[in-house]
Amino acid sequence: MTAPFIFDVHLDLSMNAMEWNRDIRLPQVEIRRREIGMSDLPDRTRNTVCLPEMRRGRIGLCVATQIARYSGRFSKLPGWQSPEQAWAQTQGQLAWYRTMEDCGELVQLRTWPEVEAHVARWRSATDEEAAKLPIGYLLSLEGADSILSWKHLEKSKTDGLIAMGPVHYGPGIYGHGTDDEGVLTPKGRELLKEMERLGIVLDVTHLCDESFWDALAHYNGPLWASHHNCRALANWNRQLADDQIKALIDRGAVIGMAFDAIMMVHGWAHKRSMPQDFGLKMEKICEHIDHICQIAGNARHVGIGTDLDGGYGTEQTPMDLDSIADLQTLVQPLLRRGYAPEDVENIFSGNFLGFLREHLQ
Ligand SMILES: [Zn+2]
Repeated sequence: MTAPFIFDVHLDLSMNAMEWNRDIRLPQVEIRRREIGMSDLPDRTRNTVCLPEMRRGRIGLCVATQIARYSGRFSKLPGWQSPEQAWAQTQGQLAWYRTMEDCGELVQLRTWPEVEAHVARWRSATDEEAAKLPIGYLLSLEGADSILSWKHLEKSKTDGLIAMGPVHYGPGIYGHGTDDEGVLTPKGRELLKEMERLGIVLDVTHLCDESFWDALAHYNGPLWASHHNCRALANWNRQLADDQIKALIDRGAVIGMAFDAIMMVHGWAHKRSMPQDFGLKMEKICEHIDHICQIAGNARHVGIGTDLDGGYGTEQTPMDLDSIADLQTLVQPLLRRGYAPEDVENIFSGNFLGFLREHLQ
């Protein structure tokens, strides 16, 4: 089969531009060269995502985040000192997306017909043509601490926000995230009502178990898990337990497979483990894909949500993943495992596209 089109449902493009100070229009080798000697962040010189590599790997469409956490006195995690600062940060990130649209690097998509036309353009492009095409993005918000009021949520919707996760790590204004516990706050339940009213997809990724079940009980709109692997294969509350996977499938959700090593294997020690310690290769993700497909009884609920620019580089990715374009090397392992070419297409883009066809307003 020819190189399939890929829809990556979780990338933090603007965070990389505005906080990591990367000009991701540049070739990967140049971004890495400019970071030689820098030690402020663990992934310096080891980035795997930039726009030229996305084009080379046929990742012509993504869900791109705004992300800004509030860490008041109640949290030890890094973050902004006030929700107002967090809001302003997300607006700066939005300004970067707009600037990239102005220079033809990105194009924002808001409706299903726009997405459909964009994907058709990419699918019919030669490699040479694809190297010059704008990458499509749909806007999401990872962690809702920055939503100061329902007016702010409405503004975000007007700006094209299609999906949102109420929490990130630890405690938040609207609920409890990874490594924390507790149900949604009263404001969190109100948030879900407002999201439902505005037709914003609930992204369950990062909800702790109690907030996850609380959210499913109180939200009736469409939901997905943008970057989320299986707890049965990587035992940490960050991943989905089997009963959660089952509940998501029953609600018609699609789950995006992440390539952060910490989410792929049992026993990864943050900032200490290396991919070599586990002999970790990309093919490991096929086990996560298989696990979900076995629970579902089909291959219609898995997609790609790499999270590859989520604050780590090759020190925390499979050994054979140097660039996001390497996603294409997963085709053969999937075919070898008995997936039909049509299943591979669905996992790489079709399942999340089908979700958008059904739910994008
Ligand atoms: Zn995340």
